[in-house]
Amino acid sequence: MPNPKRRMSKARSAKRRTHYKAQAPSMVVCNNCGEMKVNHRACPECGFYNGRSHFTPKS
Ligand SMILES: [Zn+2]
Repeated sequence: MPNPKRRMSKARSAKRRTHYKAQAPSMVVCNNCGEMKVNHRACPECGFYNGRSHFTPKS
Protein backbone atom coordinates (compact mmCIF):
# COMPACT_ATOMS: atom_id res chain seq x y z
CA MET A 1 0.00 0.00 0.00
CA PRO A 2 1.30 3.50 -0.78
CA ASN A 3 2.08 5.38 2.35
CA PRO A 4 3.74 8.71 3.14
CA LYS A 5 7.47 8.22 3.54
CA ARG A 6 7.89 10.98 6.09
CA ARG A 7 5.68 12.45 8.74
CA MET A 8 4.28 15.84 7.69
CA SER A 9 5.27 18.56 10.13
CA LYS A 10 2.65 20.62 11.94
CA ALA A 11 4.03 23.74 10.24
CA ARG A 12 3.56 22.23 6.78
CA SER A 13 -0.05 21.23 7.49
CA ALA A 14 -0.75 24.64 8.99
CA LYS A 15 0.70 26.41 5.95
CA ARG A 16 -1.59 24.45 3.64
CA ARG A 17 -4.60 25.16 5.86
CA THR A 18 -4.03 28.93 5.87
CA HIS A 19 -5.96 28.88 2.58
CA TYR A 20 -9.01 27.18 4.16
CA LYS A 21 -11.47 29.73 5.41
CA ALA A 22 -15.21 30.16 5.71
CA GLN A 23 -16.70 32.24 2.93
CA ALA A 24 -19.40 34.78 3.63
CA PRO A 25 -22.55 34.00 1.60
CA SER A 26 -22.96 36.36 -1.33
CA MET A 27 -25.87 38.63 -0.48
CA VAL A 28 -27.97 40.51 -3.01
CA VAL A 29 -30.84 42.98 -2.73
CA CYS A 30 -34.29 41.40 -3.20
CA ASN A 31 -35.98 42.61 -6.37
CA ASN A 32 -39.41 42.48 -4.71
CA CYS A 33 -38.93 44.05 -1.25
CA GLY A 34 -35.40 45.48 -1.32
CA GLU A 35 -34.15 43.44 1.66
CA MET A 36 -30.77 41.71 1.61
CA LYS A 37 -31.02 38.01 0.81
CA VAL A 38 -28.71 35.12 -0.05
CA ASN A 39 -28.06 34.86 -3.79
CA HIS A 40 -29.98 32.07 -5.62
CA ARG A 41 -32.38 31.59 -2.69
CA ALA A 42 -35.95 32.72 -2.18
CA CYS A 43 -36.17 35.90 -0.12
CA PRO A 44 -36.92 35.10 3.56
CA GLU A 45 -38.75 38.43 3.95
CA CYS A 46 -41.27 38.19 1.12
CA GLY A 47 -40.87 34.61 -0.22
CA PHE A 48 -40.28 35.80 -3.77
CA TYR A 49 -37.83 34.24 -6.18
CA ASN A 50 -37.56 35.03 -9.90
CA GLY A 51 -40.58 37.32 -9.74
CA ARG A 52 -42.92 34.70 -8.27
CA SER A 53 -44.08 34.09 -4.70
CA HIS A 54 -42.92 30.68 -3.46
CA PHE A 55 -44.20 30.93 0.09
CA THR A 56 -45.90 33.48 2.28
CA PRO A 57 -43.72 34.40 5.27
CA LYS A 58 -45.19 34.10 8.77
CA SER A 59 -46.06 37.29 10.70
ZN1 LIG B 1 -37.98 40.07 -0.68
